[in-house]
Amino acid sequence: MPTLQDTIDSGCWKECPRKDQFVSLACDEISLEEVEKLYKFLQGELPPQLHMSRHPHLSERMAFRVIYYLQEIMGILPDRYERCITCGTLYDSYNEGSSERGNHCDNCC
Ligand SMILES: [Zn+2]
Repeated sequence: MPTLQDTIDSGCWKECPRKDQFVSLACDEISLEEVEKLYKFLQGELPPQLHMSRHPHLSERMAFRVIYYLQEIMGILPDRYERCITCGTLYDSYNEGSSERGNHCDNCC
């Protein structure tokens, strides 16, 4: 069985500098656009390849709370994507926005 160091050395995982945790590289490859699609799905917008008679209808705030759980607790989604508390859009906090007085996108800073 591979050790933790073997797993790290394999390149499939890397150390997450923010929380001293290990995150999958695959997680980092999930784009903002993909997370936006999940955000819209949670609000009731079905992708064409899914067929459900009953799909979620969460508010923007509640939809982002699901995403936040997937970021912080499960480490499935990159935690750099934030929701602007003014306009509700998602943005990549590594490239734009500010968290000085709550999370805001570049348009609302
Ligand atoms: Zn905004």
